Amino acid sequence: MAPTHTSERLANNEKLESIDCPTCERDDSELLFRKDSLSIVACKGCGLRYVNPRVRSQTLEENYVEAYYPPEKINRIQTDTMEWLQMAERLEELEKHLPTQGRLLDVGCGIGTFLHLADERGWQPHGIEPSKSGAACAKETYQLDVQRGELFDANFPTAHFDAITAYHVLEHISELNPFLGELRRVLKPQTGKLVIEVPNGGSLQSRLQNADWPYVHPRDHLYYFSARTLPKLLRKHGFRDITLGRPKRVSPKEGARFALRGATTAVLVRLHLGTVIRVYAN
Ligand SMILES: [Zn+2]
Repeated sequence: MAPTHTSERLANNEKLESIDCPTCERDDSELLFRKDSLSIVACKGCGLRYVNPRVRSQTLEENYVEAYYPPEKINRIQTDTMEWLQMAERLEELEKHLPTQGRLLDVGCGIGTFLHLADERGWQPHGIEPSKSGAACAKETYQLDVQRGELFDANFPTAHFDAITAYHVLEHISELNPFLGELRRVLKPQTGKLVIEVPNGGSLQSRLQNADWPYVHPRDHLYYFSARTLPKLLRKHGFRDITLGRPKRVSPKEGARFALRGATTAVLVRLHLGTVIRVYAN
């Protein structure tokens, strides 16, 4: 499962590494387009789009750990009604798929807004967040059980969680197969629910815009999943009953007219027009 490492160097001395398609575990791909001196390719076997070669992960992780949530960004998120409505929308849909509030793990929980709402709804919230300032905010502001670090650092017991959520995380993970294997291990078999949301690399907009699609950041968005390639990777790790959610984006105009809490989010949201894919799996 380890990627093959053939190193090159970018102009600014960053090391590159070549990888196999994480799903097929071989490198048989065609070039789609280039951006920021990096190539986005499509696997000929399964169609997955990914960056290859890519910037080696150490460089990126250091950056993320130190600088992802500066104080002004935290303040902006906490006071943004749209943020809270979006988190409420995620929770509302999760509860349609899993009506009983059990033990919930949010991977890449940021400053803890989603987990805070889940806590208030009766879930037992736990979080993992690589950014120091993000994890500190989640712990101090919302008194959440959040660990600073990577998923593997937590060493959770097997079959521990009723739900695991990872919103806009998977496209950043350098070693996808060990990561998904670990999610499978700590999620309760059969009854546990996994929720993955990623930018929709198979959307019409993405295919028309290629390198100009706003989600194309090849330094840290390493994969561009579609509604076909993401389930295929999940099935490889034993996830079953894979269904697509119906993620909705909160409309700024409507959102502004409503108070933060107690609002019925269903009337505040509109279709996301396929910008993101949200997948539920057992
Ligand atoms: Zn493949």
